[in-house]
Amino acid sequence: MSYHHPPPLPRFCPYCAGPLTERWVEAEERPRLVCPQGHITYLNPKVIVSVIVEEDDRVLLLRRGIEPRRGYWTFPGGYMEIDESVEECALRESREETGLEMELLGLVGIFSRPAPAGPGIVSIVFRGRVRGGQLRPNHEVLEARFVPTDAIPWEELAYDTTRQALEAYLAQRQSSLSR
Ligand SMILES: [Zn+2]
Repeated sequence: MSYHHPPPLPRFCPYCAGPLTERWVEAEERPRLVCPQGHITYLNPKVIVSVIVEEDDRVLLLRRGIEPRRGYWTFPGGYMEIDESVEECALRESREETGLEMELLGLVGIFSRPAPAGPGIVSIVFRGRVRGGQLRPNHEVLEARFVPTDAIPWEELAYDTTRQALEAYLAQRQSSLSR
């Protein structure tokens, strides 16, 4: 299993259905996917919104039940839809994956996995807590557990951005506790 699954490049122009080829675009000083009529298809990152759900000294971790990175741990989150806000996405994804209603408490940070090393992702991570519902993970999740912050499985996290966000969360938590 590879570390990431970059999306296949689009092959046809979304405007005229002509074949796309990679060409240097002088005005933009980089290669782009261009059709014979000159339409440019831009490749931009996708946005993922997630929530680190806290309960006392524990955070909610999910073991991924789907590829990529099946069997590795992450927190609730997923791809943003075109017609929702980042907050709506955070609440929807965590509800779908866990059955829990969340309350967002603030931003942990924004992290990225740029191409070509990653699939081209911007990851927005909130801090949150449970407001209602019952922990009932969906089919995308093998296991859901509140894990003590000193027992986070650092070697079995799904992505670099998962680790970065948890580190940022713990650093914020530490500084707010010592204030
Ligand atoms: Zn075209």
